[in-house]
Amino acid sequence: MDWNDNAEQAAFRQQVADFIRERLPAEYRRRAEATDDEGGGEGLFAWYADRVSERQVDRDAAKQWADALAERGWIAPHWPKEYGGASLTTMEQFIFGEEMAKAKAPMVGGSGVMLLGPTVLVHGSEAQKAKYLGRILSGEVAWAQGYSEPGAGSDLGSLQTRAVRDGDEYVINGQKIWTSAAHLSDALFALVRTDPDAPKHRGISFLMIDDIHTPGISVRPLIDASWGHTVNETFFQDVRVPVANLLGEENRGWYVGMTLLDFERSGIGGAVEQRRALAELVDTACTDERSLLDRNRFLRGRIADRALDIEVSYAFSMRIASMQAAGLVPNYEASMGKMFGSEAGQELHRVGMRTFGLHATLWPGDERAPLAGKHTRGYVRSIPSTIAGGSSEVQRNIIATRGLGLPRG
Ligand SMILES: Cc1cc2nc3c(=O)[nH]c(=O)nc-3n(C[C@H](O)[C@H](O)[C@H](O)COP(=O)(O)OP(=O)(O)OC[C@H]3O[C@@H](n4cnc5c(N)ncnc54)[C@H](O)[C@@H]3O)c2cc1C
Repeated sequence: MDWNDNAEQAAFRQQVADFIRERLPAEYRRRAEATDDEGGGEGLFAWYADRVSERQVDRDAAKQWADALAERGWIAPHWPKEYGGASLTTMEQFIFGEEMAKAKAPMVGGSGVMLLGPTVLVHGSEAQKAKYLGRILSGEVAWAQGYSEPGAGSDLGSLQTRAVRDGDEYVINGQKIWTSAAHLSDALFALVRTDPDAPKHRGISFLMIDDIHTPGISVRPLIDASWGHTVNETFFQDVRVPVANLLGEENRGWYVGMTLLDFERSGIGGAVEQRRALAELVDTACTDERSLLDRNRFLRGRIADRALDIEVSYAFSMRIASMQAAGLVPNYEASMGKMFGSEAGQELHRVGMRTFGLHATLWPGDERAPLAGKHTRGYVRSIPSTIAGGSSEVQRNIIATRGLGLPRG
């Protein structure tokens, strides 16, 4: 499957590429050119970190880039124009995402733009739209997502964090886990249990906690295997939130929360990043004296397999975008794309490491590390990608039951 822009799409692609070339701040261009890239792909939380960085140059880059995108409504290209978005068509969104990923330009707005905003558009009152949407788009408020709990991940409906109504407020007690970027965020939206006696999916509500620094909330870091800090544990002790911050109806929060998961992304950013990483690997495998290409007769084939993976990832991304453009809602197709893309990303890094044998044990920062340790760190960092956002096992269940009609296990 190949993509050919029609004349209008080609013109739009050029417009986006020109805009990025002219407006992407120098600090982001510098990072994009560095081999030892920290983020890459869609880099959802790079902008969160830059907003609150100790370095002025990072804070300036985050602000300038947000301002530049905001001029065109491109912080939230998929939102309606009347709410500050750009009302881009699905195909334009796809092209926009592809050009952003090619330039390694960070996405601005993160979970607020991708998850909360579209859900407020569907379920929010006019007062809530007025209160929340503008602040997401100005980059004033960064949101974290509080769904998962220690006993409720794949089986999210088992969540136990309790919210009890007390006059005009809810009082929240409990714990969330894996809250990405909560330490860099200003606010958090959460699913909480408001009726413990109802069947498990019917006693849940969706609350927006405007200030993550509200007394009673504590955010503790979970350091990952690459010594990175993205995820956290978030604890709630007698946290008071106004009833006005309820999104949708009380005890109907499961359906509100699931709306948010319906805004599937094409995953094109990941495919672009993998294509770039493969081209770089091929180049280095042929030129770097540490490469095992001449000595390991299986390596060429394994690298070739990665090229196939990337073509398939592209095809999945295009399929999801094409379905959305035709007014269809991707279902098991999105599971196929997510599962395949995340597993392909891991395999690419694994082969990237095998290309350099024992040199691949060297971590970034060691000048002897091939490709500045990119695949070594990349592999460690890619491990959670087959868990976050629905594990590969859960995706396979969806493909088996909804896609193939097999009975539930
Ligand atoms: C990097 C990262 C970032 C995240 N960010 C956020 C965030 O910002 N906010 C948030 O709310 N959550 C976040 N999550 C949580 C994520 O959604 C959950 O980790 C995920 O849903 C899996 O839940 P769990 O970790 O509780 O594992 P479990 O659900 O306990 O699963 C354990 C194992 O059992 C398997 N398993 C579970 N159920 C089945 C089944 N029915 N059939 C077959 N196998 C099964 C799983 O695949 C897995 O291998 C993040 C997770 C990661 C890793």
